[in-house]
Amino acid sequence: MVLASERINAIKAQLAGLSPEQQQEKLQEIVAALEPDEQEQLFGKQQCPFCSMAEGKIPVVKVYEDSDCMAILDIHPANKGHLLLFPKKHYAMMAQVPDDEAGKLFAVANKLSKAVFDGLNAAGSNIIAGNGAIAGQRAPHALVNIIPRFEGDKVAIGWNPVEVDENEFEPIAAKIKAKMPAEKKEAPKPVIKKYDAAEIKRRLP
Ligand SMILES: [Zn+2]
Repeated sequence: MVLASERINAIKAQLAGLSPEQQQEKLQEIVAALEPDEQEQLFGKQQCPFCSMAEGKIPVVKVYEDSDCMAILDIHPANKGHLLLFPKKHYAMMAQVPDDEAGKLFAVANKLSKAVFDGLNAAGSNIIAGNGAIAGQRAPHALVNIIPRFEGDKVAIGWNPVEVDENEFEPIAAKIKAKMPAEKKEAPKPVIKKYDAAEIKRRLP
């Protein structure tokens, strides 16, 4: 979507008659509510640090790389060996990553987690992806954290269980189920058994 001239006029109308301080405040409010592509149109493309890392423009300590994704050591680690695995393409959050890429990403995360066990003698690991700032996502780019865990470490991941009425369980499940895309069912391929000539000959009376 582009900022149409009517849109700009509407913004100007909202600012009319306000004091400079009020205008400043109002403008910040309006900008915050713009779509990312509209913000980009106004301020130019903001370079995402993870996209820059994927393009090799920022030095990183790389642990893994293939054509689609890259894993690096986090420079602000929760623990020794904290890895950040991210797709090379820009996605603002994990929820936007297409199924096939998400599947591949998780498979790599799982391999890295195993490598962390063996390579760093970790006693456990956390594989975490936050969706949105409220979920603790700090980067502007979708990523998976792989955090090695050691006996007695001070990594804090957790929550206190909240009370949810038993009667709410089914309605909650129904709301989620209603938004799940239907599973594509492919017809099973017929199994064609192949016999080699010698086998058939041997079986013939
Ligand atoms: Zn990015």
